[in-house]
Amino acid sequence: MDYTEGLHDLGRGCHAWLQPDGSWGWSNSGLVTGSGQSLMVDTLFDLAGARRMLDAISPVTDTHPVATVVNTHSDGDHYFGNELVAGEGVEIIASEAAAELMNQEAVDALAGVKRLDSPTGEFAREIFGPFEFEGITSTGPTRTFSGETSVDVGGREVALIQVGPAHTPGDTLVHVPDAGILYSGDILFIGGTPIAWAGPISRWIGACDRILDMDVTTIVPGHGPVTDKTGVHRVREYLTWVEAEARKRFADGLDVDDAIASIDLGDYAALPEYGRLAQNVINVYQELDPAMARPDRLTVLGRIAALEGFGEKQGEQD
Ligand SMILES: [Zn+2]
Repeated sequence: MDYTEGLHDLGRGCHAWLQPDGSWGWSNSGLVTGSGQSLMVDTLFDLAGARRMLDAISPVTDTHPVATVVNTHSDGDHYFGNELVAGEGVEIIASEAAAELMNQEAVDALAGVKRLDSPTGEFAREIFGPFEFEGITSTGPTRTFSGETSVDVGGREVALIQVGPAHTPGDTLVHVPDAGILYSGDILFIGGTPIAWAGPISRWIGACDRILDMDVTTIVPGHGPVTDKTGVHRVREYLTWVEAEARKRFADGLDVDDAIASIDLGDYAALPEYGRLAQNVINVYQELDPAMARPDRLTVLGRIAALEGFGEKQGEQD
């Protein structure tokens, strides 16, 4: 299947809305239709993007109105468009752990980062430049769950399986058993670098194993092109590698900065957002040393920018 922006028919009443290039904020969404209604998976990062999608999918939703929205997790690029779909008769579902993080503070924080007069602010404007966070009203779920639950979508069962904490505290897989299709949210970054905000990474690897055990043939990742189990293997390999590299350095007594600086990315250096290595190493160190200070996301963004030589690249261009 071509990796082009827009609606892609996966067959059996399932669709993917893809947003190349899948880097920061360019997330995917999904639509599962049943008799006379549909379920939407995630609602994108800002109102303009969500509106564009809602307009484009109207040939499907005119006959199958969205009755259920599932947010796979609490990152803004998966739920900031909720307010455009919310309304009477529309159930919005997320895991309890995700729901706790879906609030106006999260919207305002991102809007604020883009205004910062600092190298991190510049990096934020570079990666989040195409998105408008001003004017978004955080709209959380109307129903939460923990563990597993299922939804009836016009006579068809869709299973929701919480596998977080992994990428974030409340990651959820959306499985359509009768179609062999899975919407994985950010448990899968295809063609980009995974980032473990929550972890432990062993749980994320466990989530990959869970998918590999499922009877699915088509998988829509949170970011990147539609994939199958080969994509799951690739993400699992990266996570296994980064966890082992970080653990080795922790055992050798390196501090977290030296650990990040000394890891040779090898082939992974060719992946976009390779600087996310910084957060992944910090994540493993936090697991091994719970007393270690937890840098906030802003600090982490600065570390990622530095690792990717963001400031230097800017200098070269000037
Ligand atoms: Zn995402």
